[in-house]
Amino acid sequence: MSPPMNFDLLNIRFPKTLDEAVAFQADERTRGRLLAGGTDLMVQWAAGAPPPQRLISIWGLPELSAIRVSKEMVEIGAGVTHAFLRDCTDIRAHVPALVAAAASVGATQIQARGTLGGNAANASPAGDTAPALLVTDGMVMLASAQRFRTVPLTAFWTGYRQTAAQPDEIIAAFLLPKKGRSVERFRKIGTRKAQAISKIMAASRIRLHGGTIESAAIALGSVAATPIRLGKVEAFLAGKKLSRRLVEEAEALAQASVAPIADIRSSAEYRRWTAGRLVRDALENLQ
Ligand SMILES: Cc1cc2nc3c(=O)[nH]c(=O)nc-3n(C[C@H](O)[C@H](O)[C@H](O)COP(=O)(O)OP(=O)(O)OC[C@H]3O[C@@H](n4cnc5c(N)ncnc54)[C@H](O)[C@@H]3O)c2cc1C
Repeated sequence: MSPPMNFDLLNIRFPKTLDEAVAFQADERTRGRLLAGGTDLMVQWAAGAPPPQRLISIWGLPELSAIRVSKEMVEIGAGVTHAFLRDCTDIRAHVPALVAAAASVGATQIQARGTLGGNAANASPAGDTAPALLVTDGMVMLASAQRFRTVPLTAFWTGYRQTAAQPDEIIAAFLLPKKGRSVERFRKIGTRKAQAISKIMAASRIRLHGGTIESAAIALGSVAATPIRLGKVEAFLAGKKLSRRLVEEAEALAQASVAPIADIRSSAEYRRWTAGRLVRDALENLQ
């Protein structure tokens, strides 16, 4: 067991604004590891990873805490907690899969502290909110001292625990198109209802009109090095009449489209089989 950490030895800065935070990150001599809720970072240190030399606390920065709902978009600040998302009825109406995902992170205490930005930046393939973010076809806004830039969420997770964010960038917000007439689902399969990292999870945003699938966005977590969209399944479904046969074909295609690994949480076979069942679940619950 590792010795208890002496938090007094940590070198933490507490910027009061996003401008101050990005200014720290712009200079290699002041740049530090960003600390939001700390629910991922603290666990890593407790498990023995050396704490970083410098920390920049972005917890509570006002610019990262905002939620804005416009005609077609929902903007959610990176510092918004899972608990806030879980309880925010304005958001639920427009991105219900994301709200369900936030409500499935850890348990109440972790939801009170963990942030959406921290979940995305941590870039775990098992991060609960990633599939729900992916199916919105939204963007992530990154802030640096020079500029703001947006990156499509579909291009944000670039590899195992890697993102498109540069070392001097801070995730500022998520810009998510509202679901409109589409139906969203989120399902997480774990060993228990709370405090379980997923064996596999799925989010979907599907639009049906007169029995025909107009568009389908389906994403899975914990089946690859990054959260993924099931592009082949989506293309197969688009424009087709919903039928039992179509659902079965989509289920089989989903199973053939993934190549998950086995680890302590699940076998590869179970993950592959469940990937298909989750696609079936999304298609059978479109009301
Ligand atoms: C008991 C327990 C249970 C958990 N259960 C789950 C679970 O069921 N599902 C799940 O997905 N996760 C789970 N987690 C992991 C964690 O709670 C979430 O990933 C949480 O959202 C992390 O957010 P945070 O604000 O605490 O991140 P932090 O720990 O503060 O940061 C995580 C990483 O993101 C970076 N970062 C944070 N904010 C930003 C930003 N705005 N811009 C750029 N980089 C940033 C940090 O530098 C760090 O590298 C669990 C953790 C614990 C301790």
